[in-house]
Amino acid sequence: MIRLSNNIDLTHLASFATPAKADRLIEWDSAEELANYLRGEGGNFLRNGEQWAILGEGCNTLFTKDFRGTIIRCVAKGMETIEGSDNLHTLLRVAAGEVWDNVVEECCRRSLWGAENLSAIPSSVGSSAVQNIGAYGTEAKDIIERVEYLDLEDFELKCIDCKECQFGYRDSIFKHALAGKAIITAVVYRLSSTPAPKLDYGTLRPEVEKCGAELTPMVIREAVIRIRSSKLPDHKVIGNAGSFFKNPILPRTFVEELRKRYPAMPIYEVAGEPDKLKIATGWMIDHLGWKGKNIGRAGVHTQQALVLVNLGGATGDEVVTLAERICREVYEVFGVEISPEVNIL
Ligand SMILES: Cc1cc2nc3c(=O)[nH]c(=O)nc-3n(C[C@H](O)[C@H](O)[C@H](O)COP(=O)(O)OP(=O)(O)OC[C@H]3O[C@@H](n4cnc5c(N)ncnc54)[C@H](O)[C@@H]3O)c2cc1C
Repeated sequence: MIRLSNNIDLTHLASFATPAKADRLIEWDSAEELANYLRGEGGNFLRNGEQWAILGEGCNTLFTKDFRGTIIRCVAKGMETIEGSDNLHTLLRVAAGEVWDNVVEECCRRSLWGAENLSAIPSSVGSSAVQNIGAYGTEAKDIIERVEYLDLEDFELKCIDCKECQFGYRDSIFKHALAGKAIITAVVYRLSSTPAPKLDYGTLRPEVEKCGAELTPMVIREAVIRIRSSKLPDHKVIGNAGSFFKNPILPRTFVEELRKRYPAMPIYEVAGEPDKLKIATGWMIDHLGWKGKNIGRAGVHTQQALVLVNLGGATGDEVVTLAERICREVYEVFGVEISPEVNIL
């Protein structure tokens, strides 16, 4: 199925809920049909150099103005256990438009390990690979086996394995060499039947132990959901896109100097990069007194300084004005350049 619509209201297609319209929306649920459609006249907008973008659940996208072009959105759903699964591992192939948390719930229901720490992250399956979503010491890359995509240069359906995806912190090949050249059509995840709980992050272990139940993926999922809902705003109630900024990864020597000036600043080791350290942007924003503050209708969440929120009726520009002011102050005080995790259109 290919569904075309014109003059589309985007307000409720992105979690910040800022007002914007798009000239055109293409929704698709079959990779083969999409390939045929774009190969033909339907893909003229790609060849004519017109503006276009891909949208999943819109939970990492901020619209600041009307989008004068075409939005492509996958509405393909469904997951299947595929060949290659054995007693130790299950390979789950999931359509790009599936809601990520449905995948986690299904894995936990089947007592499959690996996805439970990523519970309740609002995402499509396609974006789980683009973003390499992460939480509680786990990243999507830890369970991604391969990614299937439509190549927009030759309109062939292709597949790359986890290594080729060049996953990094909220990063992948889909933001670099394949940016604007690929539409993810499905992701294959590898889940484990062998218990592999990861509890050493934040307050996860005490939250899990509190309920005294046998350790299962579902028990961990429920603990993650309880922690998340106690400190993160529900984007369906208050517009936001989760962490607005990334946590910068900086040279160890620079961070050691910062640590002398700010001993309370949270600092993390970076796996595989001994010369670098990661610092907490939320801590810096909080230290500057921004938590719970606002400029007009755009604000900083009262419990999590990394999350910018739409207090009601904010435009995308108002959110950007707030974000720029915070970036400036962080740079002036800490000498650190922070950059948005959110895709600003
Ligand atoms: C309340 C809240 C909490 C959050 N917590 C976390 C968290 O704990 N960890 C975390 O990592 N993130 C978190 N986020 C951010 C967000 O959930 C992720 O970035 C998520 O992956 C966004 O998915 P989406 O489908 O909504 O992305 P969108 O905003 O729709 O798209 C994100 C990017 O992926 C591209 N894209 C989407 N689908 C495809 C496709 N099929 N093919 C190619 N490119 C595609 C888009 O073009 C865009 O560049 C949170 C967000 C919110 C609102």
